[in-house]
Amino acid sequence: MRLSKAAYYSDFVVYALLVAMGCAVDIWRDTASAASIWLLWAFVGVLSWTLVEYPLHRCVLHRIRIFAAMHDAHHQMPLAFIGTPTWLSLGVILGVVFLPVWALGSFRTASGLTVGVMAGFLWYGIVHHAIHYRRPRVIATWLLLASRRHAQHHYACQPGNFGVTTAFWGGVFGTSSQSLNARAAYNPSAEGSARIPSPAMGECRGKTKT
Ligand SMILES: [Zn+2]
Ligand SMILES: [Zn+2]
Repeated sequence: MRLSKAAYYSDFVVYALLVAMGCAVDIWRDTASAASIWLLWAFVGVLSWTLVEYPLHRCVLHRIRIFAAMHDAHHQMPLAFIGTPTWLSLGVILGVVFLPVWALGSFRTASGLTVGVMAGFLWYGIVHHAIHYRRPRVIATWLLLASRRHAQHHYACQPGNFGVTTAFWGGVFGTSSQSLNARAAYNPSAEGSARIPSPAMGECRGKTKT
């Protein structure tokens, strides 16, 4: 949804603070072995985020009508302040990750996992921002492959490249541009096998994606 500039940037501040505070409190409070286990859960949380990001983008933001309409605004205006309000993403992370894992496991596991998911979400936001705005420059220059991948997602005629932080799950589920192009070359008459154009060509720019 459309956000104010302050609301758009609040994700970066709030999640950076929460991740830093979570790590600092755990390292200060726990023994070395307990802190190691907590950090391991945090690492699992970061990896889990990449798996959450893929279906969230592919299935929720591109297929569920109400979310697809809001996400399409980002496709149409990549530089507009469009996103999920921090209070909403934070509430979802706490409700879907922290509380159930705490109820079924322990506070340490739940807090580690939650901080890891928050770190993954923060990294996703930084990568997506750097891809579109080319800032911060030091990060944007590292992200040429991710930028090209995401440009294809925005401007190709056929939806693909749903992973922003990683191409891994797109490869696993066969929705990377390489997979789609290979399928099209193998069977050019197959449904949905249209060639994915180069983003530089600007084909399908502005077309509503489904
Ligand atoms: Zn999209
Ligand atoms: Zn984008």
